[in-house]
Amino acid sequence: MKIFVTGGCGFIGSNFIIMQVDEYKNSIMNYDKLTYSGNKENLSSLRNNSKYEFIEGDVCDTITLKNSIYDYKPDIIVHFAAESHVDNSIKNPQIFVKTNVLGTMSLLNASFSYFSENKSNLDEFKFLHISTDEVFGSLDYNDAKFTESSHYLPNSPYSASKAGADHLVRSWFKTYEFPSIITNCSNNYGPYQYPEKLIPLIISKIFDKKPLPIYGDGQNIRDWIYVNDHCKALNAIINNGKPGESYCIGGNNEKTNLDLVETLCEIFDSLMPLSPNKSYKELIAFVPDRLGHDFRYAIDSSKIKNQLSWMPDKDFYDGLKETAKWYIDNESWWRKIQNKI
Ligand code: NAD
Repeated sequence: MKIFVTGGCGFIGSNFIIMQVDEYKNSIMNYDKLTYSGNKENLSSLRNNSKYEFIEGDVCDTITLKNSIYDYKPDIIVHFAAESHVDNSIKNPQIFVKTNVLGTMSLLNASFSYFSENKSNLDEFKFLHISTDEVFGSLDYNDAKFTESSHYLPNSPYSASKAGADHLVRSWFKTYEFPSIITNCSNNYGPYQYPEKLIPLIISKIFDKKPLPIYGDGQNIRDWIYVNDHCKALNAIINNGKPGESYCIGGNNEKTNLDLVETLCEIFDSLMPLSPNKSYKELIAFVPDRLGHDFRYAIDSSKIKNQLSWMPDKDFYDGLKETAKWYIDNESWWRKIQNKI
């Protein structure tokens, strides 16, 4: 299969491409603008691999984007490119609307025109739009988990921009019968995550023995999924997903932010001890809450489990420990990009 990927130099895209090339032997064209969170080095292991190609480009640049798709002739398009950090969206919402909403529309236009003109050769063509559980808003302790029929109630400029993109993708299926699929996934963790996000941020502070910032009282809950489990779910959808559908993908691992940070501290207490009888937990510092901070996200993945036989299989503690070790072994990777934004 030939897969055209946008945003493949970011966290999830890099892991997805490495898995697609190394494990599934598919070919990839990676189209990425290389913003602060995009890093070509993530894919250095594929530098001399004929199955991997790269184009530096913006999804909002309609001409370059269309030419790149037409030249590559993909069987599948997977759209990761986005501005992805909620805190940045609170400070500067405009770029989120530009990239996430207008960029998605530009990609839909280019992809639909390519698909329409080459339909006879594209029996299995699919367009996967990678979205987030944050579009569904915030849950309380006792609320049922999000499903594919949850209402859209986005609360941050980031989630609102992703919701806008989801609606466009859905409408391209309903209006033009464009074979698009939406995925709504929970919080990912693993290698190559830009150190602005909670887990790598805390790890970088642990390295520097600096205060470990936790918003509010640390009781906000997220449902964590190991990035490779997410990528395997996407592969199941590429192979057997149904156009016009959406799929909720979660790790079934609800943790408060405080629990998560304390577990990370315990892992680092054993891997990189601070000093005898001291724990990194002593560095935990509660900071003023994020504006409009969603309380809880949790995903019910029954649909993808039942229909596509996908299940997350990484144990949370093991995944977190592997991630911690990766950041220890790859300190130069995150140091170099840490303050890019
Ligand atoms: P990331 O910020 O690590 O990577 C984003 C990538 O998109 C970067 O390589 C960047 O250079 C590229 N990009 C940004 N603007 C672009 C543009 N205009 N044109 C082309 N490329 C552009 O993000 P991520 O964490 O890997 O997330 C990838 C996707 O998955 C996003 O759409 C995000 O909304 C979604 N998602 C992320 C999570 C998560 O926990 N990280 C969870 C669910 C869904």
